[in-house]
Amino acid sequence: MSKVRVRYAPSPTGPQHVGGIRTALYNYLFAKKLGGDVILRIEDTDQTRFVEGAEKYIIESVQWCGFDFDEGVHKGGDYGPYKQSERKDIYVTYLQQLIDNDKAYYAFDTPDELNVKRLEAEGEKKVFKYDSSTRNYLRNSIVFSKEETQNLLNQGIPYTVRFKMEPNQNILVDDMVRGTVSFNSSELDDKIIYKSDGMPTYHLANVVDDHLMKISHVIRGEEWLPSAPLHVALYQAFEWDSPKFAHLPLLLKPNGKGKLSKRDGDAGGFPVFPLEWKDPKTGDVSRGYREEGYYPEAFLNIIAMLGWNPGTEQEIFNLNELIQAFDIQKVGKSGAKFDPDKAKWFNQQYLWQKSNEKIASDVRIDLKKRGIDTPVNLISVAEHMKERVSFVKDIYSSAQYFFESPRDFDVKMIKKKWKNQSAQIVLEISQVFENVSEFTAANLEAAFKNYLENNGVGFGVAMIALRLSITGLGGGPSLFNIAEIIGKTETLKRLTESVQQIEILKEA
Ligand code: GLU
Repeated sequence: MSKVRVRYAPSPTGPQHVGGIRTALYNYLFAKKLGGDVILRIEDTDQTRFVEGAEKYIIESVQWCGFDFDEGVHKGGDYGPYKQSERKDIYVTYLQQLIDNDKAYYAFDTPDELNVKRLEAEGEKKVFKYDSSTRNYLRNSIVFSKEETQNLLNQGIPYTVRFKMEPNQNILVDDMVRGTVSFNSSELDDKIIYKSDGMPTYHLANVVDDHLMKISHVIRGEEWLPSAPLHVALYQAFEWDSPKFAHLPLLLKPNGKGKLSKRDGDAGGFPVFPLEWKDPKTGDVSRGYREEGYYPEAFLNIIAMLGWNPGTEQEIFNLNELIQAFDIQKVGKSGAKFDPDKAKWFNQQYLWQKSNEKIASDVRIDLKKRGIDTPVNLISVAEHMKERVSFVKDIYSSAQYFFESPRDFDVKMIKKKWKNQSAQIVLEISQVFENVSEFTAANLEAAFKNYLENNGVGFGVAMIALRLSITGLGGGPSLFNIAEIIGKTETLKRLTESVQQIEILKEA
């Protein structure tokens, strides 16, 4: 078998959402498993949809995930240029070949004329198609003589070039996910392959480039399956071998009803883009997984599992493990539901694997962004908090008390659990703690238990009173550990100050 070469061929029309990055990843995994290369080609033939910054965004997203292409706009390579707008002359040569061989033709019909045809057809409850049944009655080089056509071209009359789709053919698309998919060419129309603006359309450019770049397998989203018979017909028209195809299942909304879109993310409160994106025209900002605090390895794992599974129970894979395990035959045919809760779960799994030191240094960065410089030992904070959160940033939001005296108290809990004697108990324990020789969790726990025994105070009442006073909350990691981490001065200060506030809240 010749060398495996695959490509990711995005159009720079905006940020790539999770589905696009998944396509890039599956291309990468497929190629690397088979010792092949993966190419990044920018398909920018539709200049009306070009968006500044989109190309950079694609490269940055993939690199953030931890992989990269072997060839492409940012890397160079032997098959460049890798941007279609820089390959115009190449397409013209191949276009001419199709025209000369009677596989394509010039069409001079204006948009207005075609619109009239469309309306006429609608009046008869039909759909107008530019195809073998109509082309002989339209304004094109099949109908016009050679001279007439040449005259129109010489006059600079705008034209498009259409592919001459032969009717009644059975076109077979060899798809690694779906098996052989067959199409009847009579259902297809004579697609424009070259536009009046002097640019090829996606179809021509895509096929010419895949051939010239020696692409062995085309792995792309399911939305391109309807174009595949045209592509196969183009390969046949050029007398080239067609690559093998794999059309990946759509990514669906969390409820499974329809394609995942940017709006679902906005409504459901989860990002659909790998990185934050600021629209250069409107200034609108779309959230990104990176900025939400996802680890790149977790994000990679999340997208890998959208539509593929190894057929075992294993869910956690790093990039190398994915390369080993990936099998395109195991990619599903039906759409893959995007599950935002599962995405969080993946991040949590990766967070749990991190060392306390690494989490501590990430917490330090997070706190700095919030303008907090704390003397507490963040490694100990990480040790006690990591199993309780999914993201580094949750450590601050769910355990602010490590870094600041509680500003908000859980009033519901106070109303329920703060008893008449609670204030006195807290103040007495504060005295006990003051006299503990070394302010460690173990010593504090022993002193606390001792106090309960000597004074006949119940564990539950005392514990919740202490916890509310120190943290403002009704739950969290071991209170004695929290006290040790925030230190003696801070603990004693909170015990006295909070009591007054809690008493007021209790009465309110
Ligand atoms: N340019 C197409 C896109 O934007 C690529 C389709 C293909 O991979 O053939 O998705």
